Amino acid sequence: MLAFNWKVEYEDGTSLEQFEDGVENLYGDIDHSKVKEFKLEGENGNFKVVVNDGEIWAGEEKLKEGWGFPGTSKKAHYFIDGTALCRKWGFYYGPLEQGKDDSPDNCAECKRALAKRKGG
Ligand SMILES: [Zn+2]
Repeated sequence: MLAFNWKVEYEDGTSLEQFEDGVENLYGDIDHSKVKEFKLEGENGNFKVVVNDGEIWAGEEKLKEGWGFPGTSKKAHYFIDGTALCRKWGFYYGPLEQGKDDSPDNCAECKRALAKRKGG
């Protein structure tokens, strides 16, 4: 599941987060007169949207591709933009890992596709 939490940085250096000490702040609690940055952050820090001075930029993804374990899969599949190279899994935006390309836990088809992609 992909969930986003918002965080507001104020011009005076203070900030307001959607969840503080387990209590949820509402969007309406934001003091819009002194907002410097409005951020939406994914659970794993994989994705971030920042609205700054009316400019929106997305990114700062830690990893755009890598090995992940989707749903009930016992094998790791190699994901690029949420889709496994073997095409058996899609819309996966959970944690990804780089390296470990030779792990026995890896899906054989993804392994082959990745080797091909890297020119192997
Ligand atoms: Zn696979």
